[in-house]
Amino acid sequence: MPETTPSADAPTTDPKRVEALLRGKLRQLAAEESSLAVAAPEPGTQVQYGKRAGDHVAEAADRMARSRTAGELEKLVDEVTAALAKLDGGTYGSCEQCGRGIPEGRLEALPWATRCVDCQSKQRH
Ligand SMILES: [Zn+2]
Repeated sequence: MPETTPSADAPTTDPKRVEALLRGKLRQLAAEESSLAVAAPEPGTQVQYGKRAGDHVAEAADRMARSRTAGELEKLVDEVTAALAKLDGGTYGSCEQCGRGIPEGRLEALPWATRCVDCQSKQRH
């Protein structure tokens, strides 16, 4: 009888469990993104000829500031995708900056974390 049956007390870093978590998150983010796309028109759908480049840049920046949530979603999708890639490459659970192991408690709270708390806090600001 094979011993590969997933059990309830599998470790947080069990690749199958993590992959299911990450893929579930990706689906959730995709759903959130599509609901956002309905509310806010995609950049580039508006007619832009006849305007100076400066106006266009200012407008784009303004649009980005207003749709910050969409940007955050995109960033999350990137992080989850990166975590999946690390899982695939067998480096999941180690910080991509310093190479040290990411504590299990952090992975439990943030399964797509690709950096340890130290490196993450250095990254911000
Ligand atoms: Zn680190």
